[in-house]
Amino acid sequence: MSTAPAAERVDAVVVGGGIGGLTAAWTLALRGQRVVVLEADDVPGGPVRGGHFATLPDVPVDVGVESFAVRGAAVAELAADLGLTGAAPAAAQAWGFSAGRTFPLPAAGLLGIPSVPWAPDVRRAIGWPGVARASLDRVLPARLVNTSSLGALVRSRMGRRVTDRLVTLIAAGVHSATVDTLDVQAVAPGLLDAYAREGSLSKSVGSLRRNAPAGSLVRGIDGGIHAIVEALVGHLNASADEWGDPAAAGVRCGRRVEAIARDGRDWRVTDAAGAVVTAPRLIAATPNVAPLLAPILGVEPPTATPGAPIALVALLLDAPELDTAPRGTGMLIGPDSRGHGTHQVSAKAFTHATAKWPWLAERVRKAAGPGVHIVRLSYGRLGDMVVEPDVALATRDASVLLGVDLTGRVRDHLIQRWDGSLPPPTPAYRAALTGFTDAVAACEGLGVVGGWVAGTGLASIVPHARAAAATI
Ligand SMILES: Cc1cc2nc3c(=O)[nH]c(=O)nc-3n(C[C@H](O)[C@H](O)[C@H](O)COP(=O)(O)OP(=O)(O)OC[C@H]3O[C@@H](n4cnc5c(N)ncnc54)[C@H](O)[C@@H]3O)c2cc1C
Repeated sequence: MSTAPAAERVDAVVVGGGIGGLTAAWTLALRGQRVVVLEADDVPGGPVRGGHFATLPDVPVDVGVESFAVRGAAVAELAADLGLTGAAPAAAQAWGFSAGRTFPLPAAGLLGIPSVPWAPDVRRAIGWPGVARASLDRVLPARLVNTSSLGALVRSRMGRRVTDRLVTLIAAGVHSATVDTLDVQAVAPGLLDAYAREGSLSKSVGSLRRNAPAGSLVRGIDGGIHAIVEALVGHLNASADEWGDPAAAGVRCGRRVEAIARDGRDWRVTDAAGAVVTAPRLIAATPNVAPLLAPILGVEPPTATPGAPIALVALLLDAPELDTAPRGTGMLIGPDSRGHGTHQVSAKAFTHATAKWPWLAERVRKAAGPGVHIVRLSYGRLGDMVVEPDVALATRDASVLLGVDLTGRVRDHLIQRWDGSLPPPTPAYRAALTGFTDAVAACEGLGVVGGWVAGTGLASIVPHARAAAATI
């Protein structure tokens, strides 16, 4: 007689409750399917997570993802479908800090690659010698290019200053990785196709920018990006309520999946406690599932380079001097900023959140009065020493970067670690991924979603997850 626990059978099981898994699950639920999401962590959403300062409980703060790229309309559409209101960032510029210089980041670029190498804001960032080298991009033969990584591409066409002072900052800020580890197609979709047409990198960036919507390249959500996760979880749990089983939640946290097997046409998914869910459809929404699927698919699982040890510190500051947003919406900091001035800056980026998001400024003003600000500093680049930031370090960094002494002005703080959450999309990883996803495509009832296949960021993950769930 079998002693195996009874399995629960549903229409689809999703492993991983990050934005990719939740989006796919909701797409299936909208088609009338009974969907269960199994999430290892105690909280769903991965880095799409909210928090609040203990002294400001009614003001939601994003402690991971805080915006989405507007390329494509999928995230905005998802938010609208969920009844959420989009939020535009303030028009103020972002700044860069590199080689001991503070400068507004050039406006018309892509990942820091300028579309007009001689524009005044580019010149301020890279100086005349940098402009002269970058402008060669317009006259060099198109065949003189190295596409083996983002760093190689930019260096080969526009030289070191654009690479080191602009692209390195953005790549580290967005991907927590060095430019030479990043696959061009993964981090800048469409750029190589545009290059094949235009024969110049800066012209390619210009053509991609012309095709993008006008205005800012990112957007947020009134109430924080994490409202998307809260709404998805709410809808999935509500749809599970309709199954008539009061115990059936759509999104189940604390359920680490440890084994996957095929049982006829069904997938049999077992978690660490031995609980089993079976379904004819399986969506793998985390790279941790790849080794469990590999023996079934008969292929090697793609192995990613581990992501950087990332920490995020949010400070609630009494600082009316920041009302003027002295560094615009925030700042990206080059790896060469160590040793500048009396204090070595360890942060790789900071966002002046109350300057960037008018909805947040308004809520902070209502809850805490005027002159109170929120800044978020992030730490951790791939290959750097692990930084364990505390309030004192973050306050010193913020003081240097904002040019305002913030000592004794911190009302409250939040520290959140996201170690390993951003594995860099290296060319080797992307190549290994292709064999794996080909095998997935040939396997009935199996889909893979999430940043590990679609590329980093909500703008890549959401449309991919919706399409994958719709076709499984
Ligand atoms: C600090 C930070 C800031 C960021 N800011 C932005 C931003 O502003 N804009 C933007 O677009 N992107 C941003 N990103 C990138 C973005 O967060 C990711 O690309 C995206 O959240 C990845 O979503 P995902 O669903 O693919 O993966 P994840 O969110 O990692 O979801 C995978 C889930 O699977 C779960 N899991 C793992 N193993 C198992 C298992 N065995 N069983 C069950 N569950 C399992 C994990 O716990 C996790 O919840 C940021 C990332 C970080 C770290």
